Amino acid sequence: MPYITIDESRCKGCGLCTIACSRKLVSLRDAPNSMGYTVAFFSNPDACTGCALCAEMCPDVAIAVFKES
Ligand code: SF4
Ligand code: SF4
Repeated sequence: MPYITIDESRCKGCGLCTIACSRKLVSLRDAPNSMGYTVAFFSNPDACTGCALCAEMCPDVAIAVFKES
């Protein structure tokens, strides 16, 4: 099954990936990290198609997409 990883050290919490995913599989955390960012996380790993729209949207290149697990 396709899946993504999100490098939280690169994420600025802009939320563009949450908009890009039409399946709403990416969310922002409720609490900020040590840098003050509410970073993104893969909130629903079971429905990812591997379309990579989230990764293409990310201005900080924080998301990697894997087609096979
Ligand atoms: S690869 Fe596509 S389906 Fe998977 S989380 Fe990203 S935008 Fe959503
Ligand atoms: S688009 Fe990139 S920087 Fe913005 S919230 Fe998503 S992973 Fe973080």
